[in-house]
Amino acid sequence: MFPDKIYYEPESLEYELGQRLKEKYSTIPWIPIKSHNKIDELRTRPNSDFPAMKHHLIIGVRKTHNFVPNHKVSDFLVPYTSSGCTAMCHYCYLVCNYNKCAYLRLFVNREQMLKKIMDHGARSEKNYTYEIGSNSDLVLENTITGNLAWTIENFSKSNYGFLTFPTKFNKVEPLLGISHGGRVIMRMSVNPQSIITRFEPGTSGLDARITALNSMCDAGYRVGLLIAPIIMTEDWKDLYSQLIDTLSDRLSKKVREQAPIEIIFMTYSYVQNAINTEAFPQAERLYDKELMTGRGRGKYCYRDDLRSSGEQFLRQQIEEKLRGMTILYVV
Ligand code: SF4
Repeated sequence: MFPDKIYYEPESLEYELGQRLKEKYSTIPWIPIKSHNKIDELRTRPNSDFPAMKHHLIIGVRKTHNFVPNHKVSDFLVPYTSSGCTAMCHYCYLVCNYNKCAYLRLFVNREQMLKKIMDHGARSEKNYTYEIGSNSDLVLENTITGNLAWTIENFSKSNYGFLTFPTKFNKVEPLLGISHGGRVIMRMSVNPQSIITRFEPGTSGLDARITALNSMCDAGYRVGLLIAPIIMTEDWKDLYSQLIDTLSDRLSKKVREQAPIEIIFMTYSYVQNAINTEAFPQAERLYDKELMTGRGRGKYCYRDDLRSSGEQFLRQQIEEKLRGMTILYVV
C-alpha cells in the first residue's frame, strides 16, 4: 500500500497542499520530523529495507531554491515540488544523491517555487527553459498532489520561458485537457520492455509510455524522446533494435516530426551496487567489471570503445528506422 505512513514537518500543515494531504491520508500514521533531510530512524535502517522505505511518504517545505545552469535540453535545473520517487529503477541517479533515502518527498510550498521561476522568466531577456523534473518524476507525483497540472495551468498564464520534465510514467490524463500555452515540453523516457521489467520496477510499461507520449503531442504539448539509460546486457543489441522497431511502428506521425531524441548510456556507482545487492538479491547485477571502467567506491561507466560502438549502432538503427528524427545528443 502506498503510502503506508507519512513523515512530516509540522510547518507543512500551514500550507493549503499540506492540509489537503492531511485530509487525503487521514487513516494512516503521521509522524512529525524536524527535517525531511534528516530522519534518523530511516537513515539507520539497513539497505535491505530500501523497497519497504519506498512505501513511506515524506512531506516538508523546500528551503533551498538555487537554479543550476544546465546546457542540454534546458538552461536551468530548478528544484521543484518533489524529490525521490516511489519506483525503484536499479540505476536511479537519485540514489547517488539520497542513498537509501531516495523515497518520495513532497514540498508543499509550490506557490513560492513557481513564482520564483516565473519572476526569473519575466526578468530575463531570453526565453529560458527550466527543467523542473530533474529530482523526481512529476507525472507520478501529480497522481498524489495534482501539482504538475496546477503548475502547467499557472505557468501558461506567463509569456516567458518554457518548462520541461522527463517521465517514465503514463498517467498523463489530468494534463491533456488543460491550458499549457505551448510552453511545456514533456520528454518520455523509454527502454525495451525486457529492461523495464528487469531494472525499472514500479514504472509504466513501454506500450503505455508510448501511448501517453502520442496523447500529449496530440494535446499540443511539445514533446521529446529519451532512450535512456542504455543498458548493455548480453542481448542489448537485439533489445534496442526491437525497441526502435516498436517506436517506428507506434510513434504518431506528429511525434516523429517534432520530438528530438536524447540518448544516455547508463552510469552506475558503488552506492547503487551496494543497495541493490542487499535490496534485490535475486536481481541481475548491473555492474560488470569487464564492461565498465571506474573502480572502488566511485562511479562506473561503460568502456569508451563499447560506448562508441554502441553509439554507432544506435545512430544507424535510428537513421534506418526513425528517419527524419533528430538526435540531440548521446552521452
Ligand atoms: Fe529514479 Fe526516474 Fe526510476 Fe523514479 S522513475 S526511480 S526517479 S529513474
